[in-house]
Amino acid sequence: MLHDRVRALLLCGLLGTLVGCTGADPERSPGEPAPGAAGIGDDYYPNAGNGGYDATGYDVSISYDPANGRLDGDTTVTARATQDLSRFNLDLRGLTVDSVEVDGGRAEFAREGDSELVVTPPEPVPEGSTFRTRVRYGGTPVDASAGQLGDNGWQRTPSGGAFALGEPHSAAYWYPVNEHPLDKAPFRLTTRVPEEWTAVSIGRQENTSTADGWTTTTWAEPNPVASYLTTVVIDRFTVERGELADGTPVLSAYAPGAAHLRDEGERVGEVIDFLSGEFGEYPQAVAGGIYLGADVGFSLETQGRPTYTRSADLETVVHELAHQWWGNAVSVRSWADICLNECLASYSQWLWAEGKQGDDLDARYHRAVDRFTGSQEFWSRKLYDMGPGHEFEGVYSKGILAVHALRRQIGEEAFDRVLREFPARHQDGNASWPQFEDFAARVAGQDLGGFFEAWFRGTEQPADEYLYPGSLSG
Ligand SMILES: [Zn+2]
Repeated sequence: MLHDRVRALLLCGLLGTLVGCTGADPERSPGEPAPGAAGIGDDYYPNAGNGGYDATGYDVSISYDPANGRLDGDTTVTARATQDLSRFNLDLRGLTVDSVEVDGGRAEFAREGDSELVVTPPEPVPEGSTFRTRVRYGGTPVDASAGQLGDNGWQRTPSGGAFALGEPHSAAYWYPVNEHPLDKAPFRLTTRVPEEWTAVSIGRQENTSTADGWTTTTWAEPNPVASYLTTVVIDRFTVERGELADGTPVLSAYAPGAAHLRDEGERVGEVIDFLSGEFGEYPQAVAGGIYLGADVGFSLETQGRPTYTRSADLETVVHELAHQWWGNAVSVRSWADICLNECLASYSQWLWAEGKQGDDLDARYHRAVDRFTGSQEFWSRKLYDMGPGHEFEGVYSKGILAVHALRRQIGEEAFDRVLREFPARHQDGNASWPQFEDFAARVAGQDLGGFFEAWFRGTEQPADEYLYPGSLSG
């Protein structure tokens, strides 16, 4: 995600220590079915995600009419039970649930709080078994413009369309989901909209047909995806199709009011080429972009096909495409690890400036350090374990300097290896920020404890030995 001109500030209050994802009650007797936990274990989002199962696939189907704003949904979540389940939760915000089935049998259900759909299957689900939960639902989806989340959730476009976008929570506003990056799964979506509208999502476009004035389209994302990286956007799009040199399909969708972003959209292949040289082979099945005619305050790295606010620029495109490695291929284990996404995606903007424009990054670094020397506000922003509500304050600015200092601390060869090998090692999975630190130290053959403490956990300007390593000391 990149906020307009690094205002950086909106989002959420998350983070915390992950305690595991099964949520089983340690007190229960072995073999006795028990409820899955209402949260996956992220301290600052106690209700985010759910315990007791691992989602292995989503098959979401929605019908949406912009004229009346009504959404009707029919979603099947396939999952593997990680405990004997007497009942389990999905996350769903707003909307009215009409029925729930588990493996074809009618299930009882209840709503709890603002995000929990509690499902009691007709029979307990045995640990290790795969089960399918089908939810039929509908209504007018809601947004979440209040509070520190900013404009997340379901929103309308200036031309009367609609879109679902936001981090950390946006999926539960339009389909039932295990809403946490720790539980990634392949995603399939069928959209049905009046024929004068076009729906665009992530993944490969598989089928489109029009009948009785409605257009039905299927999208399939084969790679596991964190739920905040899914989206659907309904607008009067102009759609351009092409492919990357290796045959990866490119789909760029420009909403009314986004025509000025075509120059950026046409450079997606060039940007991916450049980033592949830094981070290794492009890890996603598709490429392109969804260009909104609305100023939503941020752009988001929706998988393979980022969604851009209308004030995005080329640097935004570089940032969101860098996330296809940092955040999407490898995803955070908890929201405390957000620097793994944002510090690295932000540093890609410097790599681009260096590689494409010949910028002297050491000079840029010195100018920034000089500018912020003495600024308690700048240096007090922690990059890891930053506290709820502060996740996005330092990662776009101090985070860039920290990654550049790391590069000079460990040298070009080790830095290149870290950038290329870490996302590949964790592709389609998750990693924590401490795992990144351990990996960098191992590759470099250095004890980086003091360095990481000063830059990523500290609240003061790092001592000169960490501030000016390697060529920065000259
Ligand atoms: Zn970002």
